[in-house]
Amino acid sequence: MSADANDQCMSVAQQWIRPEIRELSAYHVPDASGLIKLDAMENPYSWPEQLVDQWLESLRGAAINRYPDPDARQLVDDLRDVYAIPQQAGILLGNGSDELIQLITMAVSGSMSSGSMSSGSISESNATRTIVTLEPGFSMYRMIATFTGMDYVGVPLRNDFTLDLESLLAAIETHQPAVVFIAYPNNPTGNLFDLEDVRQVIEVSPGMVVVDEAYFAFAGTTVMPLLDQYENLLVLRTLSKMGLAGLRLGFLAASSECIEEFNKIRLPYNINILTQISASFALQHHDIFEQQTACLRKDRESLLSALSTHASLTVYPSQANFILFRTAQGQAEQIFDHLLEQGVLIKNLHKSGGALLDCLRVTVGTAEENDAFLQALNSALIDVVETR
Ligand SMILES: *Cc1c(COP(=O)(O)O)cnc(C)c1O
Repeated sequence: MSADANDQCMSVAQQWIRPEIRELSAYHVPDASGLIKLDAMENPYSWPEQLVDQWLESLRGAAINRYPDPDARQLVDDLRDVYAIPQQAGILLGNGSDELIQLITMAVSGSMSSGSMSSGSISESNATRTIVTLEPGFSMYRMIATFTGMDYVGVPLRNDFTLDLESLLAAIETHQPAVVFIAYPNNPTGNLFDLEDVRQVIEVSPGMVVVDEAYFAFAGTTVMPLLDQYENLLVLRTLSKMGLAGLRLGFLAASSECIEEFNKIRLPYNINILTQISASFALQHHDIFEQQTACLRKDRESLLSALSTHASLTVYPSQANFILFRTAQGQAEQIFDHLLEQGVLIKNLHKSGGALLDCLRVTVGTAEENDAFLQALNSALIDVVETR
């Protein structure tokens, strides 16, 4: 076949979409209608009716015909107050923290000019810039690194998913990454790394260290106060997991110099007016979220101990609103399917392979949902054993 004929057989997508993008698989979200949804780390609780009325009232004045405040100043001020973000730090808002991961990555991707090289640790003058993170980790880091054309290095956690600090420091030394991403607590493992280890990573990193605190509400620890000490520290948060996943709001706190640069590539008006008003309203009623997340933390402990009674499961410690567990070899798919048949949707991580073989992840729901899950799990475990 001639090159021309070959071209004619190719679809527009095949011909023009970059191969590394065609090779990606889209982030898959399963249909959860009619199911008990314990797959996505959502807060299961809604607001008291009276609060819902007040919220809807606050939206009445929204000038929906106008573009929103491009800098969302009111919301930024509210976030600064509620989350004790140091005064000198800059704040950037994203349509979910996913958007901020993308912004950071886009700002650093591309080749390094030889002028910007640090003392010869990478010899080629046009080396592609690198992202270093931990694995298993949040899948979006790899996806975004891939589609922004960056090199990606995933440093394995130890078998028990604790941090292998030596390997991480060695990878940073070798690859001189533009960005290190650390989810703190980690997703999908749920554990919190040692703060002193994270501090060492920040100290030895030549580039930026993004500490992704998506599960801050469930861990209670934060590196936010360290912003004053480290110019290369970026703290990423989201309102999604604490109870506002539908709003899509994330924020990044970092040196105002970095924030100003990121801000140049942010698309204007990325935070719509309904999100601006609703998030500010929610932050004024932050005590509700504190009650709800406290309840989820307590129920997480009950769920952890209930899961631990099953001898065939390995249950990993969690400082987040989900629990990772490993089934006996080769049983994860079957258990996942049995749960689904009983109307309970959790996350099947077995498919990711590697260190996550035989692993499932359940989000902490309401007490009733957790009970339904535990009951379904009981019968799944019995069925799986019986069909062997
Ligand atoms: C869920 C999650 C995010 C993304 O949250 P958004 O909903 O996009 O704000 C980011 N990082 C980690 C580690 C997460 O688990």
